[in-house]
Amino acid sequence: MLTPRVVIIGGGLAGSEAAWQAASRGVAVTLVEMRPVRPTAVHQTDGLAELVCSNSFRGDKLDNAVGLLKEEMRRLGSLVLRAADASRVPAGAALAVDRHAFSRAVTEALAAHPLVSIERREVDAVPAPDADGAPIVIATGPLTSDALSADIVRLVGREHLAFYDAISPIVLADSIDRTRVFRASRWDRSLAPAAQPSGPACGVDDGQGDYLNCPLDQQEYDRFYDALVAAESATVHDFDKAQFFEGCLPIEVMAHRGRDTLRYGPMKPVGLTDPRTGRTPYAVVQLRQDTLAGDHFSLVGFQTQIKWGEQARVLRLIPGLEQAEFVRFGMVHRNTFINGPTVLRETWQTRVRPDLLFAGQISGVEGYVESAASGLLAGTNAARLVLGLEPVAPPRTTAIGALAYYASHADPATYQPSNITFGIIQASPDLPRKKLARKLATSERALADLEAWMRVAGVAPAGHGEPAGRPAPAAP
Ligand SMILES: Cc1cc2nc3c(=O)[nH]c(=O)nc-3n(C[C@H](O)[C@H](O)[C@H](O)COP(=O)(O)OP(=O)(O)OC[C@H]3O[C@@H](n4cnc5c(N)ncnc54)[C@H](O)[C@@H]3O)c2cc1C
Repeated sequence: MLTPRVVIIGGGLAGSEAAWQAASRGVAVTLVEMRPVRPTAVHQTDGLAELVCSNSFRGDKLDNAVGLLKEEMRRLGSLVLRAADASRVPAGAALAVDRHAFSRAVTEALAAHPLVSIERREVDAVPAPDADGAPIVIATGPLTSDALSADIVRLVGREHLAFYDAISPIVLADSIDRTRVFRASRWDRSLAPAAQPSGPACGVDDGQGDYLNCPLDQQEYDRFYDALVAAESATVHDFDKAQFFEGCLPIEVMAHRGRDTLRYGPMKPVGLTDPRTGRTPYAVVQLRQDTLAGDHFSLVGFQTQIKWGEQARVLRLIPGLEQAEFVRFGMVHRNTFINGPTVLRETWQTRVRPDLLFAGQISGVEGYVESAASGLLAGTNAARLVLGLEPVAPPRTTAIGALAYYASHADPATYQPSNITFGIIQASPDLPRKKLARKLATSERALADLEAWMRVAGVAPAGHGEPAGRPAPAAP
């Protein structure tokens, strides 16, 4: 008799999490990853769950929707969160990681799992329904290879939407002029020392905050701004038609919207006091530690598509970066995703083929955490199909349930991938009116609802066995 199994295509954040969830529920998994046999335009290693740009999983507190999503994922036994927590580097109220340690932890956990087999090859077409009924999860990300993309278009019956994102530059720590910058976290929200992986080995933390801040006065800001808007952009094919995700706009696109736009965006100075002047600077560029060794720093929110030579010239106008050595320049990339509300159910199954699921960026979510969260549910549901259990979707009062609902029920005519926000979590009139209290109460309710749902739906945290759930309905 054939062993029941799940096939997962793509070993990124979503596919790795999906594989872990399915295997932890006792189901054999074949995880197919095309790197290193076929590289992508941005991945640099053959590791699973490689972070292609920022090393941040964003906010990690419950007054923040992505902080809530992460806490829910921890409670569901997420491998991505376990690996991220274990490779954490100082980043204020955010969860940032050493990208190499993180990818290694995920790769090793999956390679060591007795139910997971990893195949390195490109899948060039959506597999037909499997003879032994194996559910298939497609988690091939925003850079899904061309052949598979073409076949997905054929399957879902409508054009993919493609647009461009841009990624932030990284500089060598030693090349930053420390006499010109100051350490601080916005509003003094530093990572609690107990949560840091270790002391001095984590870098240069002196207890005064996790970011290096480059302060600009008005004259310096104007000089930088003028150079930025005049800088020559890299040629992007069909640039005029490029659609950028609003949360990830290149700095030069933001700058073209107005002289002060950056001062209200990535260069906002609020919550930061320069210890040398005792005042809030006119503008600030924040640098976040990118590796545990503390030898790389990324420019926070400074994704750009300016040509590399021009990029170096313009960014060296920032105080403290006059001699900056760039480990990686910002760049432009493709993003491919399906129209979730047309194609998906809340369980991440496709409407046309219940044995076929999508997860990650290609399913129409945005961000590392959101991609892993969709993989968590897709992997859980793929395993449940194999086990003869009904696929499940958490309540919309939880962040993970709200994300699934948004990706499958938003208006298809105007659909755009979304990060998790409190705005898409189901509201309720009994929540407090004041903003902070409301967010905290929403998070408290979400965690209680998640625990209750896990009991009723029979979803144990991965690795703790799958209690009996409702049997799946007969196949249509
Ligand atoms: C350049 C870039 C920068 C980004 N920056 C950020 C950021 O800073 N922060 C953030 O939160 N999000 C960012 N994103 C968005 C998104 O969160 C990431 O792309 C994230 O990695 C998505 O996870 P995923 O699992 O869906 O895809 P990936 O992590 O890309 O995983 C997909 C995997 O599938 C493999 N694959 C592709 N095609 C095939 C095939 N045909 N057969 C087999 N394997 C295949 C790929 O090699 C890859 O390993 C960025 C995206 C890009 C492209």
